[in-house]
Amino acid sequence: MFEKVVAAPADPILGLTEAFRADTRSHKINLGVGIYKDETGATPILHCVKRAEQKLLTDEKTKNYLGIEGNIEYGRIVQQLLFGQDSPLVNSGRAKTAQAPGGTGALRIAAEFVVRNNLAKTVWISDPTWANHVSVFQAAGLTVKWYKYYDAATKGLDFAAMQASLAEAQAGDLVLLHGCCHNPTGIDPTADQWRALAKQSAAAGWLPLFDFAYQGFARGIEEDAEGLRIFAQCHDELLVASSFSKNFGLYNERVGAFTLVSATKEIAEVAFTQVKTVIRANYSNPPSHGAAVVTAVVSDPALYAEWVEEVAAMRVRIREMRELLVEKLAARGVNQDFGFIREQNGMFSFSGLNKDQVERLKSEFAIYIVGSGRISVAGITRANIDPLCDAIAKVL
Ligand code: PLP
Repeated sequence: MFEKVVAAPADPILGLTEAFRADTRSHKINLGVGIYKDETGATPILHCVKRAEQKLLTDEKTKNYLGIEGNIEYGRIVQQLLFGQDSPLVNSGRAKTAQAPGGTGALRIAAEFVVRNNLAKTVWISDPTWANHVSVFQAAGLTVKWYKYYDAATKGLDFAAMQASLAEAQAGDLVLLHGCCHNPTGIDPTADQWRALAKQSAAAGWLPLFDFAYQGFARGIEEDAEGLRIFAQCHDELLVASSFSKNFGLYNERVGAFTLVSATKEIAEVAFTQVKTVIRANYSNPPSHGAAVVTAVVSDPALYAEWVEEVAAMRVRIREMRELLVEKLAARGVNQDFGFIREQNGMFSFSGLNKDQVERLKSEFAIYIVGSGRISVAGITRANIDPLCDAIAKVL
């Protein structure tokens, strides 16, 4: 029967990685997938993670299944990172967290939870967004609608257009917001804009879903939760999909979390039984290791301090690469101002390069970036930035 199956198109981002691997040119550069690389081009294991793993190896006593919702202590730690230490919201028991296989797994739990319980039929996502959002939400049966976000002319957020398009969202519609480091644009709302959005959302009755995959990559662990915490003050109910792939460098361990916030502890507990039903039917219960590492790091003051430093080092290196990119492009006399790259947060830069230019970078220069013009700045190093800037200057 399988000869009837039609080949699926390659995933826009992971397909690019496959093409990169197959490219035999030795000077090739991969700035497609959002993976942090250090100055040597490696994706290292964080020191705090290694130290936690050593401890886990010694202390671990069983490989018994975790419960459906995963590691309970991990859930507490996720909530602390989201809402702050001693947060009244957390202390009240209004938040319930399930460990999830990556941020992607958490998004899928969120989508299936709202669909199965007839809470929402429509999800609003920013134009543009991470390509997999559409696939995950549609796979769960949600109808996807787009809200305006990026202004190609100013290379910034078109906040008025964002609010205007979201004015069409109905009460109960799921509205996806990127907690920080918007992927792919790198442009986040300001605190005032978050406040205005939270007010609009509360008045209209949206169900906000925060996708929080880059905590620590914009300004800091606490600072980056500002938008989410502003929303939490205005809403009885919201959902969060967390990922620790990037900020712990635990990409292949698949560490994420789904958090549900309700008006009361009692409502949260009943709603969470349905979250567990979703999980049971998908993968039964989560894998242990990655969440155990996150738990071990965050619950140990010395390891936590080391993690905060290591995240800061990643953030600072990416900022330095942004500065260099802007400087070096200007030094090559390109007649376009790339200063906006400095203002963007996180791993990505929405470069404004068009499809033809992206294609030329790949075919002529073996430089791989996503078709939308998104460059993973986290993949730029002092060793590859000159050939990169030479090539960009040539295709412009
Ligand atoms: N959400 C956004 C915005 C992302 O960029 C990513 C990963 O690139 C994810 C979610 C998924 O993260 P994970 O690899 O933990 O599934």
